[in-house]
Parts: sequence; C-alpha cells; structure tokens
Amino acid sequence: MEDLNYQVDQLRVANERLSRDEKMLRLICDTSNSAFLYYSYADRRFQTVASWDHFFAFTVTEERDLDKLYACVEEQCVIPLREVLFIEKQKLRHQSIQVKLKDSHFRVEVEVRVVYDAAEQPTDKIVRFKDVTKASIQNDELTYLAYYDALTGLYNRNYFVRLVGEFIRRASEEPEPASVAVMFLNIDDFRRVNDGMGIIVGDELVQVFGQFLSGMMDDHVVVSHFSSDIYCIGIYDPRGARSVETFCEVIKERLKQPFVLSGGQKISITLSIGVAEYPEAAGSTLELINCAEIVMFKAKNMGKNEVLYYSGAILDEFIKNVSIENKLKDAVFHQNFIMYYQPQFHASDKKLRGVEALIRWKDDNGKMVNPSVFIPIAEKSGTIVPIGMWVIEESMRTYAGWRDRYDYPLILSLNVSAIQYKQQDFIEKLTELMQKYDISPAELELEITESVLIEDFAKITAKLKILRDIGIRISLDDFGTGYSSLSYLKGLPIDTLKIDKSFIDTVITDENTRIITESIIYMAKRLGYETIAEGVETEEQYRYLNEINCDHIQGYLLGKPMCAEKVAELLAGMTV
Ligand code: C2E
Ligand code: CA
Ligand code: CA
Repeated sequence: MEDLNYQVDQLRVANERLSRDEKMLRLICDTSNSAFLYYSYADRRFQTVASWDHFFAFTVTEERDLDKLYACVEEQCVIPLREVLFIEKQKLRHQSIQVKLKDSHFRVEVEVRVVYDAAEQPTDKIVRFKDVTKASIQNDELTYLAYYDALTGLYNRNYFVRLVGEFIRRASEEPEPASVAVMFLNIDDFRRVNDGMGIIVGDELVQVFGQFLSGMMDDHVVVSHFSSDIYCIGIYDPRGARSVETFCEVIKERLKQPFVLSGGQKISITLSIGVAEYPEAAGSTLELINCAEIVMFKAKNMGKNEVLYYSGAILDEFIKNVSIENKLKDAVFHQNFIMYYQPQFHASDKKLRGVEALIRWKDDNGKMVNPSVFIPIAEKSGTIVPIGMWVIEESMRTYAGWRDRYDYPLILSLNVSAIQYKQQDFIEKLTELMQKYDISPAELELEITESVLIEDFAKITAKLKILRDIGIRISLDDFGTGYSSLSYLKGLPIDTLKIDKSFIDTVITDENTRIITESIIYMAKRLGYETIAEGVETEEQYRYLNEINCDHIQGYLLGKPMCAEKVAELLAGMTV
C-alpha cells in the first residue's frame, strides 16, 4: 500500500512538472510572434500551435490541408513552400524561406526542422511561421532608396553614376568606336513655378516631367533625377551615331504641349540642356557629368531654352570665370575698385545734368577688368551685394565732396543690380547712407536693367515704388534690349528711360531704327518719362536726337567715364 501511495505521489509530481513545462512552452510560443505547425510522422497528423490565427483563418490537421496553405501564398512562393513542407522529402533537416501571403500582404519567414531517429527515419517536423513584414518592408525601402529617387521614381544620382560608369566601361571595351553621352537637363525658371504656385505644384511638375522622361529608358538609356529641377540622361551609343539629337527632338516635341497637373494647372516649360560625350569631353563618369553641367550653365546664360554640346572653348571660359570669381572675392576684401563717372547732358543746351557712376576693377596684375565681364559673375556668386554697397557709399561720399565745393545741381545715377534690390535691408541701408552723406532723394537716380526686372517683377517693382515714393528717381536702363514691349511699362514705377546704345549706333544709318527711336521718345513723353540716349558718339547722332526731343545725352561725344577729379574740373567750369 505504501508502495502504491509512493507511486501515486511520484505520478502527481511528474504531472505537475509536465503541466508546468507545458505552460512554460505555451507562454514561449505565444510570445514568440510566431505560429508553429507540428507534424508527427508516426501518426501522420499535424497540429497547429501558438499564434496560428495571426496568419491563417483555417487549421491544418492532415496532409491535404496543406493545399489551403499553398493557396494563400503568392504564386511565386508556392513551389518553394511545397519543397520545404513536402512530407516525403527525405533528409531535409533545416531550411528557411520567405513567402508573401496573398490577401494580408504579410511577409512570413518559414523555418523548417526535421528530426530523424537512429535509423535516419524522420520522426517529427516542426515548421515555424514568423511575421517579418515590418523588417522586410524597411529593407525594401532601403534598397529602393539606394537606387531610386523618392520623388520621381527615376534613378538617383549615385546609381546613375554607377550605370554610366558601366556604359563607359562597355564602350571602352568595344572593338568599334562607341560613345556615351550625358545630357544634363534643367527646367528654365523653375523657381517661378515654386515661388508663384507653391512647392507642392513644383514637386508635381518635377514628377510629371520625370514620368515623361522615364518613357525614354531602355537597355542603352538611363534617366536620373539629380535634385529639384535637374535631370540627367545617360546614353550608351555603340555605333557612335548621335542619338542625343533624336532625344532632343522627342523632348522638344513634348514641350510644345503643357504638362497638366492633378489640380488642373497647365504648365509649359522650356529646358536648358548641356551635352557631353565620352570619349571626346572626358574619360570618367564624374568628369563627363561635370562637363555636361558646365555646358548646361552656358546654355542657360545664352538665354535658356537651348541645347548645347560640349566644346573646349566652353570649358576654358568656365575656368576663366571661376578664376575671376575667386579674384573678385579677394577684391571685395581689399577693395581694389575705383569709381568712374560718366557725365550726362541736357540735349537742348549741353548743360551737365548728372553723372552715372561706373565701377572699375584693377585685378592683382594691375589689369583693368571690364564691368561687363565681372558684374554678371559677381551677380551669380552674390559678391555683387558687398560690391554694390561699396559703389553706393563711395559714389555718395564723392558726390558729397563735389556738392560742398561746387554749387551745381547734379544728379547721381547709380547702377543697382536686381540682386541688390532683392536684399531685405536694401532700402534701409540706402537711406542710412543718404543720411550719412546728407543726400536728398531728388539728387539720386537708381538704374535698373529691363532684363533682370523681368525675373522678379512683382517683388522688385514693389521696392521701386517705395523708393520712388521717397522721391528717388528710377531709371530703366538698356531700354529696348529686353522685352522691348512698351505695354508693360505702365505698370513700372519709373521716371527715366535710357535708350540703349544699340539704337543710337544705327539711328542715322537705318530707317527702321529711326522709326522705333522716334516712337519710343514720343511714347515716353506721353507717359511722362524723361529720355536719355546712351552711347552718343557723333555730332550727327546728337543733333538728330535733339531734334526728335530726346531730353538727355550720354556718350563719348560729350564725355567719357572719368575719375572723380576730372568730374570736379568739369563742375568748376559749369555755370547753372
Ligand atoms: P551701362 O549701365 O549700360 O553703362 C554704360 C556703359 O556704356 C559703360 O560701360 C560706359 O562706359 C559705356 N559707354 C558710355 N558711353 C559710350 C559711348 O559713347 N560709346 C561706347 N562704346 N560705350 C559707351 P562700362 O562702364 O564698361 O559698364 C558696363 C556695364 O557694367 C554697365 O552698362 C552696367 O550694366 C555695368 N556696371 C557698371 N558699373 C556698375 C555698378 O557700379 N553696379 C552695377 N550693378 N553694374 C555696373
Ligand atoms: Ca547704367
Ligand atoms: Ca545702359
């Protein structure tokens, strides 16, 4: 009896231990984020364990239930899954695959283990289904971002460089001459879309245009979105035929129609395109892309909407400009600038009306650099801001000196670049200097060129209005070289029109120029503007301009740009 009691006790202890183990196992399974399928070879039965419901809406108890499993994975996963689950498959010990579930879009790692007895017969099989959706999507995204641009779905810059590098390698191994072209594309005036319509619209335009470009891709053509409004196309051309031209034609044809965005906006664009080809322009991918970019900038400078091919001359000019840009920065620091002043006269009596301040720059080697060369570079690099402030202060200081010595009503005309007008504190700084040198608004005239005005019309005209309300004269420089449209003049707060030298050059010899010049002066008068003729070099030009009622004359005939001392001499001889 005692023996029996002992055995019962033993059994109870064993049972308790068993249920404790079972509980522990269940807990481990439940928290493992997995489902398990257990198969016993002895009784040919399946058993599902743990989070089975997380994945499947059915259970598996016998072999034919496996078909339900195969039916719910994506097609390409069925065969691999059959291979690991197929019961008769011998000698499989451990394997792991990934499958996608059809409806839930779960990604599942399926891990299989088979246990064998001493006679190498399978006894148990355990299959674990683990949810790896999150990690796998993150992995996919990372892979995607490594190759593609998120906004357009085109190749990103890094991958593009690799692909073009591959093209170059292929071309270099080709027995026949082969070329690789890189087209560097930039949407003209993209900022106007972004600023005027908002960045969401800007982004959509970038996407829509990118979609159009992606249609050009094939085995020999790769398209990439570099950033904002910049795209690059790489073309492998085994025959050395210029297929770039064909692409340009296709693009040109498409751009004849506007792009329609989801909000219904229709946007027409033009492009500046730079093309550089291996092996002519460069031997490596990065150099090739660089060359194409430089050529694109040149195309942009030539007035946009242009396709330009690489040439050595473009590169030389670029290098020269970079060197000027660097020297300019130095010049700002050392202030190697001098101001010259060109007199302007009343046409009727040749009395002095005022002077236009014109900057001169002596570079390190003592060479005079023409402002037409360095001002555009300074505008691009932003150095025009400190240079322009120096011009204003230096001219005002000199002007105040003349005024203190000579009692002559003189107008000081200053060339001010659009970049300067755009500076937030421009008006504030200008008026501060006017106070410092005691210059009244009526003594000042600010010149602005027609072409730069067009770029940011609303913002700049708003500032011009403020300046004009203060009483400062505004003069429209180089009139006739930009829009050449009189209709937009009425929206401009200006006092003076400067008729460009190109008109004056041919006003005597060309009948059409005469008609235009006379019309400009007539219209300007009706609109209440003063007129100044620039670049008057001959007596004949002067007489004619005076006859057609041009108010003022500026040019080599009556006075070249001169240093401050020479202006003082001129003032000394003038009477009011
Ligand atoms: P601009 O404002 O149209 O200045 C007139 C230019 O024509 C000056 O050239 C002047 O020397 C030249 N010129 C005047 N009369 C005659 C003439 O009878 N015959 C000929 N052949 N040329 C004449 P410059 O001084 O070389 O200036 C060139 C341009 O550089 C200026 O054109 C202006 O756009 C820019 N610039 C000059 N100084 C400044 C400045 O201080 N600030 C800014 N932002 N731009 C400036
Ligand atoms: Ca000027
Ligand atoms: Ca001018």
